[in-house]
Amino acid sequence: MSGTTADTTTTVLAPDVRIPLIGLGTWPLTGEDAAATVNQAINNGYRHIDTAENYANEAAVGEGIRRSGIDRGDLFLTTKFNTQWHSRSGVRDAFGQAVRRLGTDYLDLFLAHWPNPAQGRFVEACEGLQDLVEDGSIRAWGVSNFKPAHLRAVQDAGLAVPLNQVQVDPEHGQPAQLAHHREHGIVTAAYSPLGRNGSFLERAAVRDPARELGRTPAQIVLRWHVQHGRVAVPKSADNQRQRENLDVFGFALNQQQMAAIDALETGAPPRLDSDTYFH
Ligand code: NDP
Repeated sequence: MSGTTADTTTTVLAPDVRIPLIGLGTWPLTGEDAAATVNQAINNGYRHIDTAENYANEAAVGEGIRRSGIDRGDLFLTTKFNTQWHSRSGVRDAFGQAVRRLGTDYLDLFLAHWPNPAQGRFVEACEGLQDLVEDGSIRAWGVSNFKPAHLRAVQDAGLAVPLNQVQVDPEHGQPAQLAHHREHGIVTAAYSPLGRNGSFLERAAVRDPARELGRTPAQIVLRWHVQHGRVAVPKSADNQRQRENLDVFGFALNQQQMAAIDALETGAPPRLDSDTYFH
C-alpha cells in the first residue's frame, strides 16, 4: 500500500500501528459461511477483519484467511475476549486460545469485549492487554462497549486506552461517549455502522447525497463514519455489498451533507447497556 493510500484509508492506532478504517464484521457468520465470506472479502480488497471469541467463528475466520492466500503481515486482524478472562493471567490465556483457534501467532488488535463492572476486573484485563503489547504478542489493545465511567477507571490506573469499539450510526451518535474519546485521543471503531440495514438509509439526508454523488445509501453512511475519523466494521456476506462498503475513499461529503447526517441523531442509547449486559 502506498503512503498516500495508507493515509486516507487507515488511521493511527499506536506508534507504528495503523488500522484500516473499513473492516469486515463477521457476526453472525459461522462455519463455512464465515470462511467463504472472509476469503471473498480479502479477495475484494479487505485488509481488516473483525471477529470475537463470542461469535464462535474464529476457527472459520482463520480458515478463510488461509484460503485467501494473503500474507499474514498484510492483514489487520482483530478479536475480542469474554469477561471470564478478566485478570492479568486470564487475558494471556485468552490470547493463547484465540491465536490457536485463528491459526496465527499474533493479533493486530485484541479487545476486552464488555466491561462487566459488577465483576469489577476490567482494569486488570486492560493491564493484561498492555502486558501482551509489551511482549509483542499483540500489536495494539483496546476495549469495546466501555462507557466513559469505565474508561476513566482504566485511565485512573495509568493506562491510555487506544481504541473503543462501540455502536455508532447516524441515529445512535452517542455524543457524550464520542466526546470522551476525542478528549482522550481514543480511536472510535463503530460497530453496527449501518444500523443493521437501518431505516435511516431511506432518509433524505442519506438518499440525496447518494443520488447526487452516484453512490449507494450505505456508501454515504460509511463515508460519513470515515470522514469523522472513525473505523467502521460493516458486515456483509454479499459480494457486491462487500465491494460497495469498501469503496468509500473515492468521494467526499461536503460540510452541509455531513451536518445533515449528523442531524439524524436521536439521542437513543446503544441497544445493549454495558453496565448490565456482558458475555
Ligand atoms: P451492520 O450495521 O454492519 O449491518 C449488517 C447488515 O446490513 C447485514 O444484514 C447486511 O446484510 C446488511 N448490509 C451490509 N452492507 C449493506 C449494504 N451496502 N446495503 C444494504 N445492506 C447492507 O451491523 P452488525 O451488527 O453486523 O455490525 C457489524 C459488525 O460489528 C459485526 O459483524 C461484528 O463484527 C461487530 N459487532 C460488534 C459488537 C460488539 O459488542 N463489539 C456488537 C455487534 C456487532 P448482507 O450480509 O446480506 O449484506
